[in-house]
Amino acid sequence: MRGEFTETAGLVVRLVDTGESSRLVTLLTEKKGLIAVSARGVRKGSKSFGGILEPMHRLVLTLEHAERDIARLHEARVDALRLAITGDLDASLCAGYWLRFARSIAHPHGDDAALFRVVDGALDLLNESPPDHRRLEHLVPFAMLAAVGYSLELDQCISCGKACPPERSSAVDGRRGGLLCRTCGHAPMVISGDLRHALREAQGGVFVPLPNAQHRASAASLAQEVVLQHVGRSIR
Ligand SMILES: [Zn+2]
Repeated sequence: MRGEFTETAGLVVRLVDTGESSRLVTLLTEKKGLIAVSARGVRKGSKSFGGILEPMHRLVLTLEHAERDIARLHEARVDALRLAITGDLDASLCAGYWLRFARSIAHPHGDDAALFRVVDGALDLLNESPPDHRRLEHLVPFAMLAAVGYSLELDQCISCGKACPPERSSAVDGRRGGLLCRTCGHAPMVISGDLRHALREAQGGVFVPLPNAQHRASAASLAQEVVLQHVGRSIR
């Protein structure tokens, strides 16, 4: 029985060889969210689409959905080749982290078009300038989290609603979802006004420079806290 076909933009987030010439491909797609499909008859480096099923590049995919079975990859072509990323180790590691991050927070078979667009746009930025991974690596996850509805409250206390002045450093609790004023309790982390500004911008899809490595480390562990709260495990 022939199934229905969907053509969609997508990114490969995971590849597992399941046999001599078959692979299980996990995709983050614009129209079908996170979806695992089988790519039968594909060998690494084969002329059909074995060679282009790499993470990083934006693909246009035709998926064939069967009623009971797992969907099948019918056709794939490259829409945006991102060779500057694949040619730079640090940029590749950064992009790999984003893809694992996206895979962890996506809702399987859910509507993750916004998440797809954040990751796809971030990969474009990284491909334009691979050294920007330093600025982008730990900010892009906040744009991803916002895209799936896990934004942090960074303007006021999540408990009493007291506003936090823009320049002021503040305690933040990733598990509880935002800032906590001194009256309302202790939070595990204190972030500067600069970092708070950068995170708020990132949640809106704008990536401003993070002043130093300490800020980047704080952003990284805060993102992990948020993921832990919503997904139940951290991202390796
Ligand atoms: Zn409060």
